[in-house]
Amino acid sequence: MNEYAEIKGYRNTENGTELLVLIPERQFQTKIKRFAENKKVKAMIRIDDNRHITIEQLRKAHVLMAEIATYLGYYMEWFKSLMKSWYVEVYGDLKDGFSMANMSVDQARRFINLIIEFAFEMDIPLRYKDMPIIVEINDYLYICLRYKKCAICGEKAEVHHWDTVGANGGRKYDDSKLRKIALCDKHHRLYSDSMHNIGRDEFAKKYHVHGIIYIE
Ligand SMILES: [Zn+2]
Ligand SMILES: [Zn+2]
Repeated sequence: MNEYAEIKGYRNTENGTELLVLIPERQFQTKIKRFAENKKVKAMIRIDDNRHITIEQLRKAHVLMAEIATYLGYYMEWFKSLMKSWYVEVYGDLKDGFSMANMSVDQARRFINLIIEFAFEMDIPLRYKDMPIIVEINDYLYICLRYKKCAICGEKAEVHHWDTVGANGGRKYDDSKLRKIALCDKHHRLYSDSMHNIGRDEFAKKYHVHGIIYIE
């Protein structure tokens, strides 16, 4: 079995390095006891070197794929291979022996973005609150604009201009230089804490979002 873990402490001893390993939010005592031979449980540790796909990215990709596969009633393994072949088709790298473990940080980022795009394309509800944590925020805001999904809640969105025309020097209206964000009608205008009710700065502070340059 593979589990995400955090090394919380370490020290050198005569026999090697002792580690204090935390597996967050999971209870494994019984399982680990069952695996033990002579009170020893063997494990491999892959330490995050921040160049290859990070453990965090690996976990995010899995969480997302599991969520989508469950929603669609697909087998996870099947869905994973679908996403992998889509990635190869779109980006053309990683053709031979596609393995997530061999991805670079950037490839992993593109792979995660593709998973989100798949969900948006298929109108699969995701836990939108978690999205900005899962995806690079600028990528996420871009995908929201592209698929016209509210960056806050994922509902059908309209485009709000983050920068007003006046901020662009009042010259002839050139939309392409203005930052934008995709918002549903509620987050755009209707809620008491909507963009137009509390204003851009308050809204940005509350939801941790911002406008980005997006050309249709
Ligand atoms: Zn607006
Ligand atoms: Zn919304």
